[in-house]
Amino acid sequence: MSMETENVVARLKSSGLFQTKGLIGGKWIDAYDGKTVEVYNPANGEVIASVACMGERETKDAISSAYDAFSHWSKLTAADRSSRLYKWYNLLIEQKEVLGQLITLEQGKPLKEAIGEVVYGASYIEYFAEEAKRVYGDILPSPMPDRRLFVLKQPVGVVGAITPWNFPLAMITRKAGPALACGCTLVIKPSELTPLTALAAAELALQAGIPPGVLNVVMGDAPKIGKALLESPQVRKLTFTGSTAVGKKLMAGAAETVKKVSLELGGNAPCIVFDDADLEVALEGSLATKLRNSGQTCICTNRLLVQEGIYDKFINAYSNAVQSLKVGNGFSEGVDQGPLINEAAVQKVDSLVQDAISQGAKVVVGGKRHSLGLTFYEPTIISDVKNEMLIARQEIFGPVAPVIRFKTEEEAIQIANDTDAGLAAYLFTNNIQRSWRVSEALEYGIVGVNEGLHAYEVAPFGGFKQSGLGREGSKYGLDDFLEIKCICMGNMG
Ligand code: NAP
Repeated sequence: MSMETENVVARLKSSGLFQTKGLIGGKWIDAYDGKTVEVYNPANGEVIASVACMGERETKDAISSAYDAFSHWSKLTAADRSSRLYKWYNLLIEQKEVLGQLITLEQGKPLKEAIGEVVYGASYIEYFAEEAKRVYGDILPSPMPDRRLFVLKQPVGVVGAITPWNFPLAMITRKAGPALACGCTLVIKPSELTPLTALAAAELALQAGIPPGVLNVVMGDAPKIGKALLESPQVRKLTFTGSTAVGKKLMAGAAETVKKVSLELGGNAPCIVFDDADLEVALEGSLATKLRNSGQTCICTNRLLVQEGIYDKFINAYSNAVQSLKVGNGFSEGVDQGPLINEAAVQKVDSLVQDAISQGAKVVVGGKRHSLGLTFYEPTIISDVKNEMLIARQEIFGPVAPVIRFKTEEEAIQIANDTDAGLAAYLFTNNIQRSWRVSEALEYGIVGVNEGLHAYEVAPFGGFKQSGLGREGSKYGLDDFLEIKCICMGNMG
C-alpha cells in the first residue's frame, strides 16, 4: 500500500469509519462463507481493502432486520426521525474531509470534487430531516352528509436501494434521506467498486441514533442480492440508480411481487449552444457539464450541439480550455480530471472514439489513452459527429465531447430528442423566447438554461423516457416512499 493510501486508511480507522463488513441489524458482519472482494484505487490499481462479498442469505437476513425495525421506526414521531437525520447530516459534514478522501481513494475523482460530493450528498439528509415533518394528509369533501373522507400518507415499508459507483455517497443519501424521513427502513446495496464510502456513511448513521436494523448494507454478488430483494414480499419498494440495462431487468423482476419501483437510469444529454449565446457563459457551463467526474455522470453532456454561426469561435475556446486541464491522481494538487473507474470503462470510451473516427469524425483534442497509463484518458473533443454514430447513441461515461454542427433551432431540437434517453439537457442562448420554447420542446426531466449545474436537494431529479421513473430530491422526492390510504368514516352525521 502506498504512503498516501496508508495515511487515508489510518485516518479513517482512527475515526471508526473504515468498515469492511456488511451491516445487518446494527452489527458489522462478514459474508457467511467468509468470501471477500477487493476494492481498488482506480488511480494506481492498488488494493485498498477486502470487503465482505455477500449474497442471497445475508440479504434475506438484512431484509428481516429491516422488516422488524419498520414496526418501531415508522411509529416514531416525525420530529424524532427528523432529529436523528439532522444528527446524521451534522456527522457527515463534520467528517467531510475524511469521507472526501475515501471517495477519491476508491472512486478516483479529484479531492475537491469528492468533498463537494459529501456536501451535496449530506444536503439530502438535511433537506429530508426538514421534510420529515411535512408529510401531510388531506380531508376531502364527502359526497354523503354523514361520511367523512380522510387521506393518510404512510411509509411503504422495507425499501431495497441499489446504487452505482460514480457518486458513492450522494446516490445513497438521495434515497436514504426521503425513505428514512417517511418512516421506511432500508437494505442498501452499494456498487462492489465503491462500498467503503457507503459503509462509512452507515457507521455515521448508527452514531447518529438511526436504530439497528433501520439501515442495513449488503454488498458483493449483485445478481444474487438483487434476486433476494426482488423475490421478497417484505420488500415493498425498489429504488435503483444505475445503467438502463440493469434497471430494465430489475423493473421486470419487481413485477412478480408488484413492488413500487423508482429508476434513475442512464442519460444521453444534449448541450445546445446557439449563435446568440454568451460565449463565456456557454463555455463555462458546457465544460462543467462535460467534465465533472471525468465525464462519468448520468447528466454529463453526451452530445455537444453547436450552431454554425458560433461554431468556430466556440470550438476554438473550448479546445483551449480542454487542453489546459490537468489530468492525474485525484489527491494531487490542482488536478481537474482523475482516472476512469476501471479498464473496461477506458476500453468502452476508446472504442466509441475509434468508431466515430472510422465513420468520418475528426479528433480536435486528445482522442487516446493518457500518457499516465492505467485508466487515465485524455480529455477529448471530436468534431464532425453525426447523431447516427454510436458515440452519439450510447452513454460515453468519459471525458469525450462529440460535437455536432447544426443550422436551425428546429434541427437542434430534433437531434436533441432523437434518443431513447431523457434525463438532462442544456441550452445556451440569450434569447428569452427561445429559452422557453426550446426548454418546453426538449423531452428531458431536467433542463439547464445558461447553466451547467442543476442538481440540488431542493430540485426534482429524474428522467423522461428510458432514463427512469420517479423523482429524487425536492418535495416530490417523498412521494415514491409513501402509500396513500383513504379512510372513509361513516355514521358521522
Ligand atoms: P450498473 O452496472 O447498472 O450498476 C448499478 C448498481 O447495480 C451496482 O450496485 C451494481 O452492482 C448493481 N447491479 C448490477 N447488476 C445487477 C443485477 N443483476 N441485480 C442487481 N443489482 C445489479 O451501473 P454503474 O455502471 O454502476 O453506474 C453507471 C450508470 O448509472 C450509468 O448508466 C449512469 O448514467 C447511471 N446513473 C444514473 C443516475 C441518475 O440519477 N439517473 C445517477 C448516477 C448514475 P455491482 O457494481 O456490485 O456490480
